[in-house]
Amino acid sequence: DMSNAIMAQDEMGRPFIIVRDQGKKQRKHGLEATKSHILAARSVASIVKTSLGPRGLDKILISQDGDITITNDGATILSQMDLDNEIAKLLVELSKSQDDEIGDGTTGVVVLAGALLDQALELIEKGIHPIKVANGFDEACKIAVQQLDDVADDINISTESSDSNLLKAAKTSLGSKIVSKSHDHFAQMAVDAVLAVADFERKDVDFELIKIEKKVGGSIEDSSLIRGVLLDKDFSHPQMPKHVEDCRIAILTCPFEPPKPKTKHKLDISTVEEFKVLQEYEQKKFQEMIDQVKESGANVVACQWGFDDEANHLLLANGLNAIRWIGGSELELLAIATNGRIVPRFEDLTAEKLGRAGTIKELEFGTTRDRMLVIEDCSNTKAVTCFIRGSNEMIAAEGVRALHDSICVVRNLVRDSRVVYGGGASELTCSIAVSEAADKQKGIDQYAFRAFAAALDTIPMTLAENSGLDPIETLSSLKAKQAIEKSSYLGVDCLGKGTNDMKELFVVDPLIGKKQQLLLATQLTRMILKINDVIISGKDEY
Ligand code: ADP
Repeated sequence: DMSNAIMAQDEMGRPFIIVRDQGKKQRKHGLEATKSHILAARSVASIVKTSLGPRGLDKILISQDGDITITNDGATILSQMDLDNEIAKLLVELSKSQDDEIGDGTTGVVVLAGALLDQALELIEKGIHPIKVANGFDEACKIAVQQLDDVADDINISTESSDSNLLKAAKTSLGSKIVSKSHDHFAQMAVDAVLAVADFERKDVDFELIKIEKKVGGSIEDSSLIRGVLLDKDFSHPQMPKHVEDCRIAILTCPFEPPKPKTKHKLDISTVEEFKVLQEYEQKKFQEMIDQVKESGANVVACQWGFDDEANHLLLANGLNAIRWIGGSELELLAIATNGRIVPRFEDLTAEKLGRAGTIKELEFGTTRDRMLVIEDCSNTKAVTCFIRGSNEMIAAEGVRALHDSICVVRNLVRDSRVVYGGGASELTCSIAVSEAADKQKGIDQYAFRAFAAALDTIPMTLAENSGLDPIETLSSLKAKQAIEKSSYLGVDCLGKGTNDMKELFVVDPLIGKKQQLLLATQLTRMILKINDVIISGKDEY
């Protein structure tokens, strides 16, 4: 077909052909469009499928400029894949919204959506209209969500015992992550961080108060929770003490330098005497500033600006620890945390305006020259910082993601302490409920219901497959057991613990997270089924 090709001539008069195929507007329509979307979505879902569960595989992602990410986190895998298919991008959005609202279950939601679309494709090929499929799925989803509500257990989230349910839940969520060998430590960090800022009356956790910072170096076990603020700074002079107690902090936005002598004329220094006069003047001014700081009772000076060696030396000589070049937002954080006021002029310093903290410590990192300041026991805020270490950037970054997920699980349980059981147990229960409802349906919906139930089965099957178990055998034996024992706790024994009782193993998922997965996956499926026309405009069309 030469209709896209035109003849042209270059400046030398030689003919050549321009083919405009790449810039052509593309259009897919009707069932063809729906089918091709489903296939695209399926291929994305199949990529993350193998990383579901505690035995899921990690993925290595290499960006165009060669940066490497190793992760097991569905949202991360998808967000770093360079997808050019529009429908595949919708799946990425899906896992992002699960991440934003719940923070966990980002792999599961994509696997479920992929399974729903697969099932939908079969129905469409049987001749059922996509909208009918979508409506049936919506109804089935309602039944599944109701079933989750019915079987959910309200667990005790009191923090009295050292092996609380919160801690166990946090551990479960870390089980599938790279950091799993230090998951006790990470789980404790997640629980401590959430409890430090949680408001149990309002059942809420202010995420703003939890900061997660990472620094390459050390090992992942060196990660720690800091009850306070971390500043990526050091004390301004190497001889200042590395550890200050009972800190009274002057938080200054005025520069530590003497004002220029007020002369009308340009400052001309031509003799040694004149220079000495100026030097004395400067020293006098410095001393005045230092006196003002000392009179206020401060023992630490936090400055937004820098100061020169001379000022630095005087601060040291006067027993003041100083920090310079603190960024505006960090200075503010420091002021809030220590209940101090930001002071713009030395003359404004008073005892009441000083920030207060129990200790300020300078952390050193091995042989590197990197240093950080830890400000703990601050007088005001509950703010905490999770400080993640890792021997390289990849490990540290995965540590941050893993901790974030388990903090989310703990937060979700503080918000709503109802849980359902993992390892595919809750999906199976829902699948059984939806299948039973299908038997009572007369119309086309029964097909959609059965398909929905089959999609739910994909979760335990995938978990089994990823753990080296036979998926079909596992599924059928679990289904039979759930039916006989009338129990919703039975799931896939991914780690070979010798029992399917997820309650005993304490493999739980917060109810709100599991519900959200079902709702989001169904919603996305509906959206894709409703699209029957895609027009991608050409890039250089004219
Ligand atoms: P997601 O990003 O969806 O959270 P994960 O890779 O963390 O994906 O896997 C979560 C799934 O693994 C859930 O279905 C959860 O119930 C299951 N799971 C986690 N730990 C276990 C375990 N110890 N035994 C069985 N299933 C588990």
